[in-house]
Amino acid sequence: CGPSRPSPLQMGNQGPAPPLPRAHSLPAPQDCTICMERLVTASGYEGVLRHRGVRPELVGRLGRCGHMYHLLCLVAMYSNGNKDGSLQCPTCKAIYGEKTGTQPPGKMEFHLIPHSLPGFADTQTIRIVYDIPTGIQGPEHPNPGKKFTARGFPRHCYLPNNEKGRKVLRLLITAWERRLIFTIGTSNTTGESDTVVWNEIHHKTEFGSNLTGHGYPDASYLDNVLAELTAQGVSEAAAKA
Ligand SMILES: [Zn+2]
Ligand SMILES: [Zn+2]
Repeated sequence: CGPSRPSPLQMGNQGPAPPLPRAHSLPAPQDCTICMERLVTASGYEGVLRHRGVRPELVGRLGRCGHMYHLLCLVAMYSNGNKDGSLQCPTCKAIYGEKTGTQPPGKMEFHLIPHSLPGFADTQTIRIVYDIPTGIQGPEHPNPGKKFTARGFPRHCYLPNNEKGRKVLRLLITAWERRLIFTIGTSNTTGESDTVVWNEIHHKTEFGSNLTGHGYPDASYLDNVLAELTAQGVSEAAAKA
């Protein structure tokens, strides 16, 4: 009896396609660490998973990190995940493609206000205004077809208008376009379900004081939010790659 095969997978049509690398023509001597078969043999998902144009013996080399896998194994990994348009290298965790979220439709605006934040004397302030109306959940949300609520909108957030603050603003705009700022879920503060909630990118919603912990001064905030954006695949390095 041979090695055990991975269990069958259902290939859904929903969501963006996986960002697969080009097929590589030279077989490599190593193993594919997704299926544990040699790269010179067919993917362990042969006969289990079918994907248009991806033959089980095709191998792909990820562009930046150079790690190699069967293309069919990358398809299997993608379809087992949340199918958000991105692939993460299982060896080194490099992110490929653009991760997108499930933020419902709305508006993001920003403008300068002539006041400084605590800790940023003599620096004007960028005020971001997010506005999301209530609506009906789509297929990507927890309860498709059901209403969702949107509490506390428009929500105001603040950044110092210095070089790092403007960089955070640029990346937040990208995150907004990729639907990563908000999602629909259960509120940590009220316990209400099917409502619009923040999605792992922290914002400063308090101006002039820090009574809630979501205000200034906070010397590490800009670096922290840059790290949170990078974890979502949003960074200036990723934009240049
Ligand atoms: Zn494989
Ligand atoms: Zn890698």
